[in-house]
Amino acid sequence: MRPEPSEPLVRETNCKTILNKSKLGDYSLNCYGGCTHGCVYCYARYMERFHPHEEPWGAFVDVKVNAVETLERQLRSAKPGSVFVSSACDGWQPIERERELTRNCCRLLVEHGFRPNCLTKNTLILRDLDVLAGHDARVAVTITTLDPAAATLWEPHASRIEERFHVLREAHAAGLETGIMFGPVLPFLSDDQASIDAFFERAAEVKVDAIWVDALNARPEVWPSVKILLERHHPDLVERYQRVLYWDRVRTAYRRGLRERVLRAAERYHLESRVSVISA
Ligand code: SF4
Repeated sequence: MRPEPSEPLVRETNCKTILNKSKLGDYSLNCYGGCTHGCVYCYARYMERFHPHEEPWGAFVDVKVNAVETLERQLRSAKPGSVFVSSACDGWQPIERERELTRNCCRLLVEHGFRPNCLTKNTLILRDLDVLAGHDARVAVTITTLDPAAATLWEPHASRIEERFHVLREAHAAGLETGIMFGPVLPFLSDDQASIDAFFERAAEVKVDAIWVDALNARPEVWPSVKILLERHHPDLVERYQRVLYWDRVRTAYRRGLRERVLRAAERYHLESRVSVISA
């Protein structure tokens, strides 16, 4: 059973821009600041530096209430391109159900010939397949582990793993390109050959078009929360994680090994041409 998220603190804000240049495509678009999925390894935790909150990560969300009007304005002069939705939050986190900001932004993007590259851990995106279908758009989900118990620990308020595969099947059936972000791969928990093979087997089953593999990175604010989880649930792994994250030689050897296992599995399931290994 997944823990119910407690009511988050919601703060309404106004943004000056919503379509921003990005290294992760031509643009990125985030209708929210913060994310109530509350993933332990979330790289977006660093955003708290710029928008400080007393609440812990996962317990607040800033809503950019003028997101749609801002996008409308920007689209009058922006050159069409791919738009990563979203890079610093999950655009389909629970509050999106009532606010519909990501949905309406996606609608505008496709109407103006932009290509939304959607990445989520929430089945709410199924609601918006009607907006995306028939356009140049991609629907991708993140999967860090196939183990439901581990997923509940690391991604406490995101949709279940099987629900995310359901999203891929539905998106594929709707004629959309699909993808899986396999990452961050959890050292010593989801990175052995058997786990990686099982992941690729499932990816092949849902006929996914693209797979990105990312190792765990020691991005700012990530290690403290990862360490707390490990101390509680895997105390034997604390030191091993530290070595993989911070000792250069260990990290290099670890990533080489991970890359080899990923490529072996990709070959086994004939997915070599669809895999990009980002940081492994
Ligand atoms: S879903 Fe993405 S943005 Fe949201 S907490 Fe998890 S990793 Fe962070």
